[in-house]
Amino acid sequence: MSVDADLLIVGAGPVGLACALHARRAGLTCVVLERRQPQPSTLDKACGEGLMPTALRELADLGIDPAGHPITGITYVQDRGQAVSADFTAGPGRGVRRTALTEHLLSAVRRSGAEVIHHRVRAVSQDARGVSVDGYRAHHAIAADGLHSPIRTLLGLGRPARWPVRYGLRAHLRITPWTAHVEVHWRPDAELYLTPVSPTEVGAAILTSHRGVGWQQWRERFPGAARLLGATVVSTVRGVSGLEQRAVRQRCGRVLLVGDAAGYVDALTGEGIASGLLGARAAVAAVTTDGITDYERALRRVTRRSRWLTTGLLRTTSTAVGRSTVLAGARLPGVFPRVVNLLA
Ligand SMILES: Cc1cc2nc3c(=O)[nH]c(=O)nc-3n(C[C@H](O)[C@H](O)[C@H](O)COP(=O)(O)OP(=O)(O)OC[C@H]3O[C@@H](n4cnc5c(N)ncnc54)[C@H](O)[C@@H]3O)c2cc1C
Repeated sequence: MSVDADLLIVGAGPVGLACALHARRAGLTCVVLERRQPQPSTLDKACGEGLMPTALRELADLGIDPAGHPITGITYVQDRGQAVSADFTAGPGRGVRRTALTEHLLSAVRRSGAEVIHHRVRAVSQDARGVSVDGYRAHHAIAADGLHSPIRTLLGLGRPARWPVRYGLRAHLRITPWTAHVEVHWRPDAELYLTPVSPTEVGAAILTSHRGVGWQQWRERFPGAARLLGATVVSTVRGVSGLEQRAVRQRCGRVLLVGDAAGYVDALTGEGIASGLLGARAAVAAVTTDGITDYERALRRVTRRSRWLTTGLLRTTSTAVGRSTVLAGARLPGVFPRVVNLLA
């Protein structure tokens, strides 16, 4: 089957679906291709599920308001129990299960008149007039196909990572949230992110460069999070490897990379979705205004702050001395709230 549309979007993650909503709002015809069954339960993914205030605002602008648990700030807890906290000043964020976010986005996309097709993309080609993706044809294409973006690889836009491979794991626990903060527990070899996602559930994500340690073993290794030990795990444990992904460019002809596909530093600042949503807005604006040659600059502008902060934190915290220095620095008056609100 072939489709003639203004825009083809590869990937029905939050970023691809946001692109579809922006495109429909701008009056473009658009088709989303997704390799998994396009339904909320199958489009689950390892994620900390903390929507920063910017993400929540971008979603609200698209008419998306998923249920979840308010997040009013961030608390870092060191392995010896010292903690440093800061509230968001720009309004709350929200902990939202990925499946709930997808459910809202998918139904809004379908209501908007965009088509979502179950199809794994294998080939991309383009000419002066348009892009062909496995026989689907459009004026432009957006690759929102995630961290290990097949389109990035097909277009030869991948670039080797700079840092040791980091892994992410996530699970959900049945436990009443005890705080409206995202709680981050640090060990020398891993971080645990606890995000309330409903009145009865907390999401737990682990980031580490250690391979092969299972979720159960990790949860016993954070003494500051002992309350988790008795809690029932209520979701499938999901993992992801190779958090750092780089792209030489974020555009190749009429194909624009956006979200994790455009390059990703790490999940330690928890603002991948916010950055991706800002990128979605920039990508569709570039397509609708015929400004695709300016897209990379626009993308860099809207994602610069989070890239720099994430890169800086990752670099500093990669050694034990660096981690202690960051925590000591964070305890200086005003420092931690400033960093948290730059990210928020
Ligand atoms: C452990 C961990 C914790 C995180 N915590 C947070 C957090 O708390 N807050 C936050 O904001 N961000 C967090 N992130 C980052 C966040 O999950 C990502 O930034 C976000 O999911 C990116 O969305 P996306 O739409 O670009 O990609 P994805 O959500 O990965 O979606 C990509 C889609 O493309 C589809 N696809 C792939 N290949 C093809 C193909 N060939 N054909 C068709 N479809 C294809 C996939 O099936 C998928 O549905 C975390 C990430 C990790 C790993």
